[in-house]
Amino acid sequence: MPYFNKSLFVAGLKCRLKLWNLFYRPDLASPENLSARYRMDIGIEIGQLSRALFPRGQAVEAISEDLQAVLDRTAACIADSSVPAIFEAGFLFDQIFVRVDVLERSVQGRWNLIEVKSGIEIKEHYLFDLWIQYYVLTGLGIRIEKAGILRLNKDYTYRGGRHDLVRLFDFRDLSLKVKALTPALVPKLKHLQDVIASDQPPEVEPSKLCAGCEFFDSCTRNKPLNWIYYLPRISEKKWNILTGSGIDDIAEIPENVELSPLQAIIRRCTIYNKQFIDPELEKTLETFRFPVYFLDFESFCPAVPRYSGTRPYQHIVFQWSCHIGRKDGNLQHAHFLHNEDTDPRPDFVASLLDCVRDEGTIVHYGTFERTRIRSLFEETPRFASELRKIFRRLTDLSRIIQKYYYHPGFKGSYSIKSVLPAMVPGMSYDDLEIQDGENASFQYMRMIDTSTKDREKEIIRNSLLKYCRRDTQALAEIYSGLKKAVLGLCLKEAERIDGN
Ligand code: SF4
Repeated sequence: MPYFNKSLFVAGLKCRLKLWNLFYRPDLASPENLSARYRMDIGIEIGQLSRALFPRGQAVEAISEDLQAVLDRTAACIADSSVPAIFEAGFLFDQIFVRVDVLERSVQGRWNLIEVKSGIEIKEHYLFDLWIQYYVLTGLGIRIEKAGILRLNKDYTYRGGRHDLVRLFDFRDLSLKVKALTPALVPKLKHLQDVIASDQPPEVEPSKLCAGCEFFDSCTRNKPLNWIYYLPRISEKKWNILTGSGIDDIAEIPENVELSPLQAIIRRCTIYNKQFIDPELEKTLETFRFPVYFLDFESFCPAVPRYSGTRPYQHIVFQWSCHIGRKDGNLQHAHFLHNEDTDPRPDFVASLLDCVRDEGTIVHYGTFERTRIRSLFEETPRFASELRKIFRRLTDLSRIIQKYYYHPGFKGSYSIKSVLPAMVPGMSYDDLEIQDGENASFQYMRMIDTSTKDREKEIIRNSLLKYCRRDTQALAEIYSGLKKAVLGLCLKEAERIDGN
């Protein structure tokens, strides 16, 4: 039987069934998406880079397949006082096997336990991750001076040339917090070890806490199509009231259960399988000025800054797509995609300004484009005054929909991936190689990588162009769907169900 480890521990703290599934039924997990793989690659890259901060450190991972060899090599490094730091040291205690990113020799036989993270924020589960390593090492009698997280420093600004690694990384000593967790986590650890000692899965009902879990599809396969999970911003209290009464389906929620105005609309739309159209929608759409520009940006966020003046994970815009709708119904398309590993922002902005000219409503979906344009005021100061002008022309279509429209096909989500197929049947992202912004960003990094072959670059470039174009085409179609809805053309009868 495999040993318990830190991934299982952190997963088990979140959900006992997730732990059990990871141990016995990993086959039930949804296939790992490409973005998850790229995130892992970034983690590996950051881990490797951080090692330069520990000169003459010795790595154990070359023999990682053989557990006993890992333990022996670790013991040899610990015994050798000329080794100042050990990378990927392995330890086994209480049936738990852990690898430590960096174990740094401190003074008087003590050690610093360092977990390297590729992110910039300290997340709660990092503490649990550290704690189980601390538990194992101290259980083996290793004295820990400090236990903490080495992460990228969000305030580091790259100035060109070689990176200043001392400033790029930031160590946060979490020793006190980690030690303070022991009384609460020891019993939990024992309980989680019992969970995997059983060959029967624990009974856990899926809930709002399941978002993002790799076993979501498997655990929720028997839930109704309109499961209450899809009711936006449902409180824990309301969730408990509904599930406690055996109510799983939005359509079954009784009238006397108090819901927010939006939740109440969703309940009625679900029951009657009709759209909700607020009278204000028509007036709002009438404020749009032609030409209407349907705009979308793509950005990438290099963990280690690539361009002078940028910080870790700073968004760097590299692509835009724009569908331009004329009053006579004509729709044209324009785009920009930077091709090389140079700062794309000046060309991005110059071409964008040239496209959107001086008049017309600029429609985007969500806050992303607005936030990026605001950042570009400072990132590209020579275009600041022009950018401020286009900033004033921005209109967020997602906010308009959230305020004035609902379609039962949204299933409680206003993401464009939910809104599009509901409003424009037959149109989705399913036929594209790139289907989300995170993947677009990783693919762009591959495209500008000098080691990528020309043929591969061309394929990625075409995929990026198709993906971004689909986003703005979707915006134009959704806008058109809203107009049809207010005119009562998209269904036999665009019946208002706003309480009348
Ligand atoms: S989907 Fe929910 S219940 Fe199922 S394993 Fe994941 S967290 Fe647990």
